[in-house]
Amino acid sequence: MQMFDVIIIGGGPIGIACGLEAKKQGLSYVIIEKGPIVNSLFNYPINMQFFSSSEKLEIDEIPFISKEAKPKRNEALEYYRRIVTSNKLNIHLFEKVEDVGKQGDHFRVKTQKNQYTAKNVVLATGFYDLPNKINVPGEDLPKVSHYYKDPHFYASQKLAVIGASNSAIDAALECWRKGAEVTLIIRGPEVGRRVKYWVRPDIINRIEEGSIKAYFDSTVKEIKSTELVVDTPEGEVILENDFVLALTGYRPNFEFLENLGIELSNDEKRLPSYNPETMETNVPGLFLAGVICGGMETHKWFIENSRIHAPIIVRAIQDKLQLVEKD
Ligand code: FAD
Repeated sequence: MQMFDVIIIGGGPIGIACGLEAKKQGLSYVIIEKGPIVNSLFNYPINMQFFSSSEKLEIDEIPFISKEAKPKRNEALEYYRRIVTSNKLNIHLFEKVEDVGKQGDHFRVKTQKNQYTAKNVVLATGFYDLPNKINVPGEDLPKVSHYYKDPHFYASQKLAVIGASNSAIDAALECWRKGAEVTLIIRGPEVGRRVKYWVRPDIINRIEEGSIKAYFDSTVKEIKSTELVVDTPEGEVILENDFVLALTGYRPNFEFLENLGIELSNDEKRLPSYNPETMETNVPGLFLAGVICGGMETHKWFIENSRIHAPIIVRAIQDKLQLVEKD
């Protein structure tokens, strides 16, 4: 069985950046991705526009040209796909990693399809797989989704959007503009402070003019097939309802990290332990890259500020490999 210098788990923008850097530096590597290339981006809303301008999403300084300053999802798919194909990156798609174990100095990586061995492993698995559940009766009904894709689906329907951050606000505005009757249910007293500065006035105006109904300081108590029970400061309210978008954020797979032996902080942030100078975790040879580094603080890392992880990690791996050669 081939012994790779490094196996990269996750073929998102940052996993791809790590693969590209490994290839450039002459390391043997494979990227293993459970879905298509940049699976998370593929699953983002169909009309999604990044808040970053395209040059901030570039990896390895490969130019990213987009029609507007801030690219759309489709342009990002094109960009990252071309990086993979033009550079003939070694990436195995639709292959979920199920287990990673350590045998002596080496890692054994088990997927649905294969077994691999490597001297080092980079975890770049992001957080978009696991939604933060609201844990109320009815959350598993088919009319409830934790992912928003296309506003057309909700036209002429009574849609409740739960959440106050960018994803929830974008979905509420877009669906309202395509003819949905939208109600926002927001746990706090206001629209999220981190909502894009050019979108926040738009949603506030739509709420003030009554186009979109919003319940603040309110939580959903129960989801029924045609109704929603909401706890508001004025008491319980029953809303007629066809669909629910519960866009209350996502979280990394902490169980996976813990099974690998990565230490997490004991507070609610659940920050994984790693050395920021090398990105190596407390497990020697196991590195973290991309948004997964932020634990529950999923807004802390994004493509813009985590693409730098790739050269840091590859340099650290090269140093380790040279040390072993010298021994
Ligand atoms: P991801 O892109 O999430 O990639 C992780 C990959 O790992 C996925 O492809 C997943 O399928 C794969 N994976 C997970 N588990 C396994 C497994 N067991 N086996 C194999 N593969 C696995 N960031 C910006 O910088 N600018 C923006 O404007 C911006 N806009 C955003 C808008 C939205 C709506 C959202 C949700 C996020 C946005 N972000 C933005 C954040 C950005 O998309 C993420 O930071 C980025 O995707 C992180 O890249 P990543 O490679 O770390 O993780």
